[in-house]
Amino acid sequence: MQDLLTEIAEVAKTSPDKGQVATYIPELAKIDPEQFGICVATSDGNVYSAGDAETPFSIQSVSKVFALALALGKVGDQLWRRVGREPSGLSFDSILLLERENGVPRNPFINAGALVTTDTYLSGYSPKEALGELLRFVRSAADDDSIHINEAVARSEIATGHRNFSLAHYLASCGNMNAGVDKVLGTYCHQCAVEMSCRQLALAGRFLVERDDMPGLVSKERRRRINALMMTCGHYDGSGDFAFRVGLPGKSGVGGGILAIAPGRASIAVWSPGLNQYGNSKLGTEAMEMFAQKTGWSVFGAPQF
Ligand code: GLU
Repeated sequence: MQDLLTEIAEVAKTSPDKGQVATYIPELAKIDPEQFGICVATSDGNVYSAGDAETPFSIQSVSKVFALALALGKVGDQLWRRVGREPSGLSFDSILLLERENGVPRNPFINAGALVTTDTYLSGYSPKEALGELLRFVRSAADDDSIHINEAVARSEIATGHRNFSLAHYLASCGNMNAGVDKVLGTYCHQCAVEMSCRQLALAGRFLVERDDMPGLVSKERRRRINALMMTCGHYDGSGDFAFRVGLPGKSGVGGGILAIAPGRASIAVWSPGLNQYGNSKLGTEAMEMFAQKTGWSVFGAPQF
């Protein structure tokens, strides 16, 4: 495993096309695109890493996985009255379907759906308390109390997030937003601004690995369902392509991180800030493809390793 990760990091570092760093959040535009890290936390307790695996990055939409777990923990299946479970086939911040589908977002991983999950775990709390809950969840999943929120990234997104504000206002106009647009957006942008290294993210992802001796943060059934949504919706309109190339549930973020789960085997985090045409990490996706090919780990095939 260690040799494989070292090889993957070497291939990534020498790749001529590293994709484009997200610029619509000004703080993210400053990140050096030459970085690449990967970490695998296996279900038998081993951790392997290569490249810049200790460098913290903005997890952005990978946070939607933790937010979903929190929202489901709070309201259970009632969440599905407010958000669907189908891929949208559209970009992460699209508003197109919201009008046609009466303000019920397609799934919890597109921005509109994530605003609903944030609104759900925020309900009855102040933003500070809700973010405290989120951090407690992530820190306990990773067993690492040093995980924090980058305030500059959160502010940078709040200052420029007109698209997300319009999504939130549209949801509010349809009666699918309870805590108020400003509170929800403030909480959402702070949630997206959680920083983690690949090592921390891989460790945090273990709660989705489907092993009985893993941290028991969610029930077995809920783990399976979150994994299913990651597979079908975790890479926006690149979800089908990621399933085809990698065959593992995964969630990407515009900070260039990807969390992928090999059920029963491992949690894998990869990071490279340059994005492909779908807004998913370009080298991260390529690295995951190489990883899945070499290990044979795929939910669609028999394991070889
Ligand atoms: N905070 C980002 C946004 O709402 C997250 C998007 C992403 O990571 O895909 O635009």
